Parts: sequence; structure tokens; C-alpha cells
Amino acid sequence: MRAELRILQNEIDARASATVEAQPFWPCRRGCDHCCRHLAGLPVVTPPEEELLREGIAALDEATRAGVAERFRVLGERPERPVVCPLLDEATGACLVYEQRPVACRTYGFYVERDRGLYCGTIEGAVAAGEYGDVVWGNQAGVEAKMAGWGRSRTLQFP
Ligand code: SF4
Repeated sequence: MRAELRILQNEIDARASATVEAQPFWPCRRGCDHCCRHLAGLPVVTPPEEELLREGIAALDEATRAGVAERFRVLGERPERPVVCPLLDEATGACLVYEQRPVACRTYGFYVERDRGLYCGTIEGAVAAGEYGDVVWGNQAGVEAKMAGWGRSRTLQFP
């Protein structure tokens, strides 16, 4: 499934890049970590995504990996809402496993499903105000259909 995941990631990244390039004020870009700090819950990942994330976490230096493990532990003991993703470097606002990040993180903000609450509040506010009328949104249902046969998904965990 790794090849299928790579193809899907490329398709999503191309859609996201085209959106950002066409919309100079689009908020989802380096420096915006709003969604990573305001999760309703940890991302849910398929087995190939989990495997890729495991590799990304294993590649972190020891101190950073220990920090991630600690944040997962604390979150497990004291769940709080909204959830700050344990894989976020809060000092820089960067994802520690950006290249390996889940599909859900790649689509968020670009593949809107308003009736399921799958959208960035900042973008939704702009759309409601009449902006971004010419945006070509990604097809979230299509993404999920492609991932449907990849095995049982589960909540992101520290490996
Ligand atoms: S995995 Fe990375 S991109 Fe996804 S919510 Fe966590 S920090 Fe953000």
C-alpha cells in the first residue's frame, strides 16, 4: 500500500499547492499551525500511514523523540480539548514529521466537507464573507474511497 499512499499524497499535495498559488491570502502555509493546535482529536491513520509515521518518528533525534513520547503520555493521561498534536514543534509551529504527516493533515483546509465539520474555521469565515469564490476544492469523499481498502484505521499513537 505504500505506493498507493505515495500517489495519493502527490495528488493531494498538487491540489493544495495549486490552491495556495492561486490564492495569495490562503492561510494554510508554513507558519500557520492553527489546526495542529486545535484538534478535536488526534488524527486517525490507516496502516500504511502509521508505518510511514513510525519511520518519521524513528528518524527524530533522541531528545525530540523523547519529547514527543512524553506529550503522547501526558495526552493519554489527561485528555484535553482542543488537542495540541504531540507531533507539533510548538516553538516553531512546524510539524516534526512533515514529510510523513497523515493524509488528514494534508487535506485539511483544502478538501472541505462542511456538513461533517471538516474545514478550517478561518477559511470557512472567509468563504462566508464572499471570498475564495473561485476555489476548486478537493474531493474528500474520493480520498476516503481510495483509502478504504488499506486496512483498519486507528488513532495516531506513539510507536
Ligand atoms: S501530524 Fe503534523 S501536520 Fe498533522 S496535526 Fe500533527 S503536527 Fe499537525
